[in-house]
Amino acid sequence: MTDTLQIDIQPIEKSRIDTVDFNNLVFGRSFSDHMLSVDFASGEWQTPQIIPFGDITFSPAMMSLHYGQAIFEGMKAYKSPEGDILVFRPEENWKRLNKSAVRMCMPEVPEEIFMEGLSELLRIDSEWIPAKEGCSMYIRPFMFSTDEYVGVSPSKTYKFMIFTCPVGAYYTKPIRVRVETKYIRAAHGGVGFSKNAGNYGASLYPTKLASDAGYDQIIWTDASEHRYVEEAGTMNLMFIIDDKLVTAPTGDTILDGVTRKSVIQVARDMGVEVEERPLSIKELTEGIVSGKVQEVFGAGTAAVIAPISTVGYEGVDYELPERPADAFSRKVYTEIDNIKTGKITDTRGWVMKI
Ligand SMILES: *Cc1c(COP(=O)(O)O)cnc(C)c1O
Repeated sequence: MTDTLQIDIQPIEKSRIDTVDFNNLVFGRSFSDHMLSVDFASGEWQTPQIIPFGDITFSPAMMSLHYGQAIFEGMKAYKSPEGDILVFRPEENWKRLNKSAVRMCMPEVPEEIFMEGLSELLRIDSEWIPAKEGCSMYIRPFMFSTDEYVGVSPSKTYKFMIFTCPVGAYYTKPIRVRVETKYIRAAHGGVGFSKNAGNYGASLYPTKLASDAGYDQIIWTDASEHRYVEEAGTMNLMFIIDDKLVTAPTGDTILDGVTRKSVIQVARDMGVEVEERPLSIKELTEGIVSGKVQEVFGAGTAAVIAPISTVGYEGVDYELPERPADAFSRKVYTEIDNIKTGKITDTRGWVMKI
């Protein structure tokens, strides 16, 4: 990285920070004062801009609205006890954004634009980063095609943006999930590994059906047989079975989560055996009944660790026991949270200090 990147900054006239109740933050409803905006045109990235958060105008023929070249990322920043701004593993998100970009035929974002744009944005809105326990600054980088053209082909122009939201907890209690056996999220050769907008659009209807039946989320299964666990809507799924951590291997149908890989690393460092292998629904449900399956939880940036209380499958609810005080998912949450918030030394080089 060089420090020569020029960023045009147009600060807000008056901050909106007084209008936000930091004691009652709802996930994703409050937006900080500024946003980063970078255009791709004539085959190159233009000068990044930091401008007041606000509406943008576009043509009704803007291609991303029609053909779905739209990708995003999600990560978090925290305030350390010393008041430093800490971002958790942002280079992983940068790399994944570019993997999504390649699959969706979009230009890759240079590291210095991503990192320096992000750093400058967090610096200018640093007052917005909550310091309260359980709160953080959610960061949403995203890119979409902007050509005004009604024809199916890759756009020639794009916009890369980042905005930020001060947030509280995503889920506040253990969640109920239902195994999906009709609809699918991803098939081999498809775009399941990429964080592109269309994957989420396609998930809304099956998730709504599960929600109408009293569940919070669904467990996606493999597209060909509906026999193996894939992941949840916005989280990877993890299981403690016979004291081992089990999770589906990543591939082209599974989102390669930063939280997932962090949990795996922490588990190994704690001496917990890790198995990245296909887990069948049969093994899962039978294991819950027999007690071999001790914990089920989701892992993702928004919720960090989301304990699961219930797995619904073909009309039967399989109930997990209540988590003991020394449950793996509690210990791993505490370890990762302590690293992210700078409460303990970051021995793994995961935190970027701004
Ligand atoms: C973002 C996401 C995850 C979690 O990834 P993190 O990098 O841990 O936030 C898992 N599954 C899906 C489908 C996702 O979109």
